[in-house]
Amino acid sequence: MHTVPPLSTVAAEARALAAALHERQVRFLADLISIRSYTGQEQAAVERTLQELRAVGCADVHVDSAGNALGRIGNGPRVLLYDAHLDTNEVADDSEWPHPPLQPVVENGALWGLGASDCKGGVASIVYGAAILAAILKALKRESDFTVWVMGATLEEDAEGFALRSLVERDGLRPDVVLLAEATDLSLRRGQRGRCEVRVRTTGRAAHASTPDLGDSALLKMLPIVSALQAMNASLPTHPVFGQGTQAVTLIEGPHTPNSVPSWCEIALDRRMMPGETAGSILAGIEAAVGPLGGTARIAEQPVRTHTGLQLDGPSYFPGWYLEDGHPVLDAGLETCQHLWGARPAVDVWRFSTDGTYSAGAAGIPTLGYSPQEERYVHAVNDQVDLGKLEKAAAFYALFPFVFSPKE
Ligand SMILES: [Zn+2]
Repeated sequence: MHTVPPLSTVAAEARALAAALHERQVRFLADLISIRSYTGQEQAAVERTLQELRAVGCADVHVDSAGNALGRIGNGPRVLLYDAHLDTNEVADDSEWPHPPLQPVVENGALWGLGASDCKGGVASIVYGAAILAAILKALKRESDFTVWVMGATLEEDAEGFALRSLVERDGLRPDVVLLAEATDLSLRRGQRGRCEVRVRTTGRAAHASTPDLGDSALLKMLPIVSALQAMNASLPTHPVFGQGTQAVTLIEGPHTPNSVPSWCEIALDRRMMPGETAGSILAGIEAAVGPLGGTARIAEQPVRTHTGLQLDGPSYFPGWYLEDGHPVLDAGLETCQHLWGARPAVDVWRFSTDGTYSAGAAGIPTLGYSPQEERYVHAVNDQVDLGKLEKAAAFYALFPFVFSPKE
């Protein structure tokens, strides 16, 4: 049988199952919070996620080569990937936290703890979206038009997009659409600015600092370059939503010998990019400014090591992206909320960078963000996620494939 039930029926079922499974969802999230999972050390959180993916009825539960936790629901032609990361940023000082960061506590209708809002609440949302989906498909006794992959991702805090790139390019999973459960407070996110780190270098000739005339200072050559890079801010590309790109000199380095004229000098430049800018266009603009002053430019290389021991070093380059009005993925997100709660959510862009820099920015896979987590609690000592919103997000992730998949 291949009849699609009315979406209003599936939506009612998704809401009811989200409520029925809510306690299990909260227990899973509390377990995840209690497991320390700094970037590159996600193994225990990955294992806990695999256990839950099996328990909720996923097939093909496994760890990919970069150490991401994966499970699948359905086996249809349209492939969706739900991505939320398991790694958290590091706690600077536990004494500043109202509750110990690794001891989850429910207070005022929210679950508190490290990573609750970034991004373990997102992981609990997509895993329980899959749980509801599994139950609905079982009750319908029909083949799905879609395949949903649920991904407990690694490495996001230090090198967003690197683990997702590995899944797509190394392990060969090619989704048609990616949904990201980074903080959106139950609104939709359709894009982000990009960023990259550019290194500019000058070289000279070393000499003893007591006879500076015998040398050629790379540091003095750098001074007009810093001014020229700063002056570029007035003419960087603009975008109607994201505003103007920016760049800032953030580091200066040279040989650590205070009694020598430095033979080399290098600066780091943090560049915030608009969708459409490329590594080539950025380097060309910077080289035009620094080349005549004696500087050379390159994109920095970022060292990245997974908890499985794989070295994923790559350019420190994270392109921006933006999903246009009327895109079927954006419309499906709006309709999913409409069917579930009778109202369309707000649509916005992210201030920070996400795994979407790879999926949408580099690979061109349509990407959309939705989650219960709130940006104001991200990387904050009052890290928490609202439990009512957590339940709603699971319903969203269960219904979305029914809304999106039938369209061609
Ligand atoms: Zn995050």
